[in-house]
Amino acid sequence: MAQEKIVIITAPSGAGKTSITKYLLENYSQLAFSISAATRQPRSGEKNGIDYYFITADDFKKKISENAFAEWEMVYEGKYYGTLKTELERIWKENKIPVLDVDVKGAIHIQQQYPNNTLSLFIQPPSINALRERLESRGTETSESLNTRINKAAYEISFNQLFSKIIINDNLDVACNDAAKVVENFLSQS
Ligand code: 5GP
Repeated sequence: MAQEKIVIITAPSGAGKTSITKYLLENYSQLAFSISAATRQPRSGEKNGIDYYFITADDFKKKISENAFAEWEMVYEGKYYGTLKTELERIWKENKIPVLDVDVKGAIHIQQQYPNNTLSLFIQPPSINALRERLESRGTETSESLNTRINKAAYEISFNQLFSKIIINDNLDVACNDAAKVVENFLSQS
């Protein structure tokens, strides 16, 4: 049997990945959000089993040893995130296509695991300066954390050729439309 389809959305942080993921999920009913397991605390408004499966680090490590993850990463110091194989299977059983919002390393790993029938979108800020301005305007960064994020983003952008399609997010509406066109084409393929 052919490998079931997967859509991966990845980006350096601050590039607009979440908004584009939401747009795609709202507009294509064949797509379903793949709920990751995570060990961080829920933020206000986040719900277990909707935004993430919030689990303890011990449970996460147990699942690693059981080979339960399609991919997992320590995205932030001490904080684990991973895509459960059972989550992909749950969505495929509903005859839908999972959409994975994952960090760049996770996206590379999942592509290696599922090389066929996988569409990966790399959302890229128009420039490092634009990303710097975007992060500065959020007002949530110290100059040290800003520099760390910018350096990480530049490093992650260096992997952009590994993905099916690079979507430049200069204007969010344009980027959503560009992503939609690519996804529509992927959905229409058998
Ligand atoms: P946040 O804590 O802000 O929800 O997510 C932090 C980062 O973790 C984001 O870049 C998000 O895409 C990534 N992430 C969420 N779920 C997964 C996952 O299952 N695997 C990997 N590798 N990264 C994930």
